[in-house]
Amino acid sequence: MQKWNMIIDVAECTNCNLCTLAIMDEYIDNDFPGYCAPMPKHGHRWIDILQNERGQGTQLDIAYAPAMCNHCDDAPCIKAATGGAVTKRADGIVIIDPVKSKGQRQIVDSCPYGHVWWNEALQIPQAWNFDAHLIDAGWKQTRGGQVCPTGAMRAVKIEDAEMQAMAKAEALETLKPELGTKPRVWYRNLWRYSTAFIAGSVSREAGGIVDCVGGAELRLLRGGAAVATAKTDNYGDFKFDRLPENSGDYVIEISFGGVTKRVDASVVKSISLGEIRI
Ligand code: SF4
Ligand code: SF4
Repeated sequence: MQKWNMIIDVAECTNCNLCTLAIMDEYIDNDFPGYCAPMPKHGHRWIDILQNERGQGTQLDIAYAPAMCNHCDDAPCIKAATGGAVTKRADGIVIIDPVKSKGQRQIVDSCPYGHVWWNEALQIPQAWNFDAHLIDAGWKQTRGGQVCPTGAMRAVKIEDAEMQAMAKAEALETLKPELGTKPRVWYRNLWRYSTAFIAGSVSREAGGIVDCVGGAELRLLRGGAAVATAKTDNYGDFKFDRLPENSGDYVIEISFGGVTKRVDASVVKSISLGEIRI
């Protein structure tokens, strides 16, 4: 049976927030019995755009990762709910029943992604429900997917085996896979948001003139072993990307024109080492 999945491309998201606003437009002041009670005007972000600012100075990039209920196949919120207040449909969509969930604040706490919001006025937990009322009315795309101007967000309804094959072929990832919740929201280029880089710029002085060094050979060493290689570009810049955050100590070995220099770097988040004179 075909089921719904959301595919998000971090490299294509511009943080325009149109998906977030479309969801607010859809749900604020609107009641969809059996699906969802109205979303409050303030305080909820059922589609939230996470941001990670990587690096410093001129070697800076910012990645945006839209996040929402993952419609997990092994969902902690379903286990935490009582009286069938949270259910998974045959098409993969997780629904928090707006009546049965009344007073069940534990559903908010059970979501390890922080994607369930508490509606204080109505005393109910709420999350983005994949626009199930629209899907059931025949929509082939969610509102967020419909308004996204870059194609960064796209819902697909396919067989699980096909989704798994696509994930493998296109290196799609989910958030916090180690939790075993089996999310149905997949990310392309998630490394742009979740990993760190070491960057810098190589220069040298000759005849009283400082110039950038293009074509310098670099090795990234960890525990004495090379884990990556790179070359500086025409401006002397280099970047070792896709390193795990908090991965600790590295050495950058720079070789050019018979000169070799080693520089220490410690990775917590992305770092720019600035100008390195050889
Ligand atoms: S992301 Fe949270 S609310 Fe959504 S299905 Fe998973 S555990 Fe439940
Ligand atoms: S509409 Fe598309 S580009 Fe804009 S924030 Fe949402 S996912 Fe990103």
